[in-house]
Amino acid sequence: NAPLAELDPEIAAVLEGELARQRDTLEMIASENFVPRAVLQAQGSVLTNKYAEGYPGRRYYGGCEQVDIAENLAIARAQELFGAEAVNVQPHSGAQANAAVLHALINAGDKILGLELAHGGHLTHGMKINFSGKLYDVGAYGVDPTSHRIEMDEVRKRTLEHRPDVIIAGWSAYPRQLDFAAFREIADEVGAKLWVDMAHFAGLVAAGLHPSPVPHADVTSSTVHKTIGGPRSGFILSKEELAKKINSAVFPGQQGGPLMHVIAAKAVAFKIAGTDAFKDRQERTLRGARIIADRLSQPDVASQGVSVLTGGTDVHLVLVDLRNSSLDGQQAEDLLHDAGITVNRNAVPFDPRPPRVTSGLRIGTPALATRGFGDVEFTEVADIIAAALRDGASADVEALAARVAKLTADFPLYSGLQQ
Ligand code: PLP
Repeated sequence: NAPLAELDPEIAAVLEGELARQRDTLEMIASENFVPRAVLQAQGSVLTNKYAEGYPGRRYYGGCEQVDIAENLAIARAQELFGAEAVNVQPHSGAQANAAVLHALINAGDKILGLELAHGGHLTHGMKINFSGKLYDVGAYGVDPTSHRIEMDEVRKRTLEHRPDVIIAGWSAYPRQLDFAAFREIADEVGAKLWVDMAHFAGLVAAGLHPSPVPHADVTSSTVHKTIGGPRSGFILSKEELAKKINSAVFPGQQGGPLMHVIAAKAVAFKIAGTDAFKDRQERTLRGARIIADRLSQPDVASQGVSVLTGGTDVHLVLVDLRNSSLDGQQAEDLLHDAGITVNRNAVPFDPRPPRVTSGLRIGTPALATRGFGDVEFTEVADIIAAALRDGASADVEALAARVAKLTADFPLYSGLQQ
């Protein structure tokens, strides 16, 4: 029972180092967040010891009376939060949730239609070497080459051409809201099921700041760790008539024993997501993204060939187009990293550069909103990013890093926490 630092100093050093990295930099990867301590506590608990194959009240193992309570709470809270008929909280991750959704809805060889990966779709929506691309007959819709928006005429056209069994609405990199009612109509036109993957914007939906897909979709999947800010994991909402199929697709279809420590942490995250403080955080998330989009659209930056895809954002992220800039995606990511800001390079639609380099950046605000940032701080962050992208190779990185250091010092993260 030696403490980690004694038993395994190498791993203890990684935890320490990572805590320091998170404290001392500005985390702006759109899919990341900082979980509250209560989530860390639930996730780092003895529940990790428990096998609980099956579902509450119907387990294949004894001794599940405590973990049943946790799972039932997670289910009830998600149900209330999203107004869902049925909930499965067992998927280990977003990708596992998505595998279960397709497993439940269709058979190998059937047809799916989702947003093109290079236009902001996810691997699990039909990428060639992902299970979704290998098992199913994949079609895709893209964004409009000029507006960079998903136009419903295009979705309808691709649907009528491909005649999918499942239409997927959802994205990993897209800065606007989707028209779920229009997706529903198009799905009905060809008798397809509608699956919405709200992994990215679920926190905004929970806060009532983004239209909910739940009334329109047959199935809605999500992660818990992006805008919601809970443990790394997934969950699935569905109509009651699909609940049995979804449950058996998750277990035993895709997974064995559920991660009960993570399920307890999901319950905690869903509880927090029902509070006013959570709504305030999501509001600051949205305002922060708008502040960044506005700043990066100003003439000093725009004149250097930097632009904001779709001209702005309705969500928690901004997509920056560097096709006409002196920086490529990799260089811009590295430059911001040197200044202490973590973002990820991201392909823009119709990107001339390879996926490892790209001509874009994806910049997200959820983690900094969780850290406590409001309009004033996001205005400063936006200006630091703008200066870096405007000045490129001649940016004064030291001066920018000093501005970042002031922000991180003013907003301490996990104060007093020891790893
Ligand atoms: N769905 C979407 C839209 C995502 O953006 C992601 C993660 O990036 C996932 C699913 C997969 O989540 P995970 O990384 O937990 O498997």
